[in-house]
Amino acid sequence: MSSFRYLVVGGGMTGDAACRGIRDHDPEGTIGVFAAEEHPPYARPPLSKALWAGKDESMIWRGTAELGADVRTGRRIVALDLDARTATDDAGEGHSYERLLLATGSVPRHLPGAGDNVIHFRTLDDFRRLHALASEGARAVVVGGGFIGSEIAAALASNGCAVTMVFPEDGIGARLFPPALSAFVNGYYREKGVEVVAGALVQSISGTVGGFGIETDGGSSFEADAVVAGLGVVPATELAEAAGLPVDDGVLVDEYGRAGGREDVFAAGDVARFPVPALGGTRRVEHEDHANTHGRVVGANMAGAATPYDHLPFFYSDLFDLGYEAVGDVDARLATVEEWPEPNRKGVVGYVDGEGRARGFLLWDVWGKVDAARKLIRSGATLDSSSVSALLD
Ligand code: NAD
Repeated sequence: MSSFRYLVVGGGMTGDAACRGIRDHDPEGTIGVFAAEEHPPYARPPLSKALWAGKDESMIWRGTAELGADVRTGRRIVALDLDARTATDDAGEGHSYERLLLATGSVPRHLPGAGDNVIHFRTLDDFRRLHALASEGARAVVVGGGFIGSEIAAALASNGCAVTMVFPEDGIGARLFPPALSAFVNGYYREKGVEVVAGALVQSISGTVGGFGIETDGGSSFEADAVVAGLGVVPATELAEAAGLPVDDGVLVDEYGRAGGREDVFAAGDVARFPVPALGGTRRVEHEDHANTHGRVVGANMAGAATPYDHLPFFYSDLFDLGYEAVGDVDARLATVEEWPEPNRKGVVGYVDGEGRARGFLLWDVWGKVDAARKLIRSGATLDSSSVSALLD
């Protein structure tokens, strides 16, 4: 049995960030990182952005081992004994620890009935498979109109593929963007040559790579060389549940990242549901900034820092030449206060609750204003058009 002071379950961005947080406070304690993928921790955003714009794959590696962490790739932790402070991996090897971090992330939702030849896009291996299929003129069907669907459709079209997007909402990004903006994005993608099939569910997929047949519930059919899906993710909570930790759409943690009221068990990143006093209640966030920031704070707390996490994480996306940053609750179901100096091209959308308080901001081609937006959210003040306009200065 190997023995670690810190055992990190999960080799994603959160796991890497946690190692950095640990090292901020403990330069020497042994760290074991167990990564189910065959790769050490890497940055995920380039898989749907920079690597399609000519950047070299070497840019993604995080260099976790350079922190003195023992990174075991291709090893999945399959059981925990919290009382004995031991973990067992899928090779049957046991490991003891003093502090445990669950950074197991999330797993992509699968399209019902889809086989392995459909790429449910999330990992470096998924990127490599899709990139190899994305030759000039290749036909691709992209299922899903959220983050992965919109970024991958743009990436494939920009690389000369003939792209069809199929998703159930009325518009691209419809869960985030106000309806008029989402409708504009549909038109923008069509101008870029993407066939946008909104309001449709995929009913069946036949064939395989190089000769797929896809049918929708509306009776449309498409042929494709590759099918890629981004249908959302579910938090990977099985280990935590089996170990008896409280789980409710994520492992429930306190402001320090501690789970189950224990001093020696933590969770961070996609898999953790954490308190957000600025917005009320708890949230689970599946974006890069949160993975990095929560991972680092919770890692530091594993090493005794006692720092509460009160960060409001931001996220960003590029949709061809359109781009934005966003923070807080960016939810199309909320009422909005909007200012658009250039309609659909440059503007700010403030999302408000029933009392008119700012809960989130979409900063559309507006840069460097995330901190100011955070201040408006934290202030709890009623949001008016002058404070939204101030974000455009
Ligand atoms: P998502 O939730 O953004 O979008 C899911 C999409 O799939 C929606 O359009 C939804 O309606 C559709 N869908 C769900 N079930 C479907 C079905 N049966 N048939 C057809 N469509 C269906 O999730 P995603 O795009 O898969 O992204 C996965 C994760 O990656 C998310 O956690 C996201 O936050 C993260 N991510 C973030 C960024 C970013 O921050 N820029 C970029 C890429 C991925």
